[in-house]
Amino acid sequence: MRIGILGDIHGNAEALRAVVAAMRRDSVDTWVQVGDIVGYGPEPSVCIDIVRELGCVTCLGNHDAAVLGLLDTSYFNNFARAAIHWTTPRLRPSDLEFLRSLPLVVKRPEFTVVHGTLHMPDQFGYVISKVEAIDSLELQETRLCFVGHSHVPAVYLRRDRFPGEIVEKPQSEVEVSYRGYERVLMNVGSVGQPRDEDPRAAYGLVDTEREVAWVKRVHYDIAGVQRKIREAGLPEVLANRLALGV
Ligand code: ZN
Repeated sequence: MRIGILGDIHGNAEALRAVVAAMRRDSVDTWVQVGDIVGYGPEPSVCIDIVRELGCVTCLGNHDAAVLGLLDTSYFNNFARAAIHWTTPRLRPSDLEFLRSLPLVVKRPEFTVVHGTLHMPDQFGYVISKVEAIDSLELQETRLCFVGHSHVPAVYLRRDRFPGEIVEKPQSEVEVSYRGYERVLMNVGSVGQPRDEDPRAAYGLVDTEREVAWVKRVHYDIAGVQRKIREAGLPEVLANRLALGV
């Protein structure tokens, strides 16, 4: 099985199309999406259509929850909140229905999918270091688990339940063998708004036969989506940050 994992698309259809093309070249046969299809970007419905057409195994993100009115946006920063207010009235009824159907956690025999962490999926906590990875791994029942939310890719490997054994691979691009490890927790980074100072779109790939995981990056038309953000009247900062990867 070759699992392709994308997430934190955030309405950036330019980045999503580039990632999907790269994943097809990688011969992905199982598609996973870790949440936040909408918010920040100018083409939320286009991104929902692409995710649905791919048949992605999908969980709910915090921005997805916010447009459904399921999350109090007073915890969001001003730009994120402005983007939620821009996005919500532009979604079609079918978009809202699809987002409403998404669970917080999806468990399959081979892998688990959650936006933030397994130890508080409804609180949308972040996996940003070994500290949170240890808590999430404690509750991980499948060998593989895919998360997003921080927009910073990292892979955490646990050989056994002794927490000191955790290996952390936080690079922006990584190829890692997980042979011999009983748990793999993978933060796949962000398609539509990377925040690790690498502006290229990020996605994850896992080959379960070879027991290898990758975080990969692809170039996309950043200027094109910046133009769409400005034309849409979304906050300027949301265009500027894409070129910096922050
Ligand atoms: Zn996000």
